[in-house]
Amino acid sequence: MAKIVVVGSNHAGTACVNTILSNYGDKNEVVVFDKNSNISFLGCGMALWIGKQISGSEGLFYSSKEKLEAAGAKVHLESNVDAIDYEKKEVHVTLKDGTKHVESYDKVILATGSKPIVPPIKGVELENVQFVKLFQNAEDVIKKLQTPGINKVAVVGAGYIGVELAEAFERLGKEVVLVDVAKTCLSGYYDTDLTELMSKNLADHNIKLAFGQTVTEIQGNGKVEKLVTDKETFDVDMVILAVGFRPNNDLGKDHLNLFRNGAYIVDRHQETSVKDVYAIGDCATVFDNALGENEVNYIALATNAVRSGIVAAHNACGTALETIGVQGSNGICIYDLKMVSTGLTLEKALRAGFDAAVTEYKDTQKPAFIEHENHDVIIKIVYDKKTRVVLGCQMASKEDMSMGIHMFSLAIQEKVTIDRLALLDIFFLPHFNQPYNYITMAALSAK
Ligand SMILES: Cc1cc2nc3c(=O)[nH]c(=O)nc-3n(C[C@H](O)[C@H](O)[C@H](O)COP(=O)(O)OP(=O)(O)OC[C@H]3O[C@@H](n4cnc5c(N)ncnc54)[C@H](O)[C@@H]3O)c2cc1C
Repeated sequence: MAKIVVVGSNHAGTACVNTILSNYGDKNEVVVFDKNSNISFLGCGMALWIGKQISGSEGLFYSSKEKLEAAGAKVHLESNVDAIDYEKKEVHVTLKDGTKHVESYDKVILATGSKPIVPPIKGVELENVQFVKLFQNAEDVIKKLQTPGINKVAVVGAGYIGVELAEAFERLGKEVVLVDVAKTCLSGYYDTDLTELMSKNLADHNIKLAFGQTVTEIQGNGKVEKLVTDKETFDVDMVILAVGFRPNNDLGKDHLNLFRNGAYIVDRHQETSVKDVYAIGDCATVFDNALGENEVNYIALATNAVRSGIVAAHNACGTALETIGVQGSNGICIYDLKMVSTGLTLEKALRAGFDAAVTEYKDTQKPAFIEHENHDVIIKIVYDKKTRVVLGCQMASKEDMSMGIHMFSLAIQEKVTIDRLALLDIFFLPHFNQPYNYITMAALSAK
């Protein structure tokens, strides 16, 4: 029996453990350590839970210590891995009861995820300054919201987590200000005309937007009272800091090769620079197909975490399996505005050095004779002017057009040209779409 130790068992670790046990459980002993008291918390449900769009947190977990143990793993929760001796192949742990423990391994899988970035400003230690990562963080916010006196909330960071939380607080009747140093929200995922749509959507729901402002200080006497930026001061009772995540590389930063942001650099088998040491999920790099062949990047998403866990499991158990890379596909739904994207925005493509162009189209989802539930869809397809290869796609609508983005994800992965897309066989039925549908029309009108 080989022994595989998995450090961290949230989305990446859980996927990895389940894959090992269901395919190779008879040949491998699996030992799991996680410092948290719960596993598999779906952070994506946090805003829905805080904003009372779902009745509770029970459905936000899909695994547990008991489930992993029933599948055959030895699971130690509330057990912090303090260090790894990569030469002796030993994991050093402080177990839940405080005892020190050493576990040897044949292969170790690092699934230690990411940590919220703490901005270097005065006042982050004040009461009611909240971070949003763990189940416990959400519980804490919800408990505080139930006490009187939390009426004005500042959300710092207008990425998808900040935007979702701004909506959640507004739904609870709070006065909300959303602050970001960038001039718009969601700037990493959409070009400006689409981010403007989302900004208008937020503003229409009475969320104050303070974009293009740098937070300089949080002030208060023990508790938060004011959020100060380089341009304004806001009276607030709670501050949510959602300015991004950095890879948690504590256990390997002095031993393994690191990406520019500190993520463990992995090969297509998820193996790090040290043999028999694998890294998966938010602590590891990905291969970004939109940027090009073998381009390494950091894209922290649960979807990537799960896939990397599956790939590492097979390789650690002796079946060679290469990752096919990712496109960074993502989506968001705020009130009734849905936006999805994959690959590069035009801005990102130009910054990355592509001679890129965009083709766009706007039309209703269904023919005009469908009078109800028939909204406009905006599509933007980014492509390389020289090679004609599709680099990215963004869509926005009140319709649920989200499934369309998966095709673009595949197109980027498989290096499909915009001209091939124009001639793609897309079915038509008025219940769903138009004969001259917006995907075909956008592709046909590419210069
Ligand atoms: C609010 C929010 C909303 C999100 N929404 C989405 C979404 O809609 N779609 C999407 O795809 N992604 C979403 N994400 C991102 C997604 O949650 C992460 O990409 C995902 O959690 C990464 O999984 P992971 O297992 O790699 O890392 P993590 O989830 O960070 O888990 C790491 C685990 O390692 C453990 N650990 C760390 N260090 C040690 C140690 N030394 N010893 C023992 N255990 C250790 C931790 O306790 C933890 O359980 C969201 C994230 C947040 C916070």
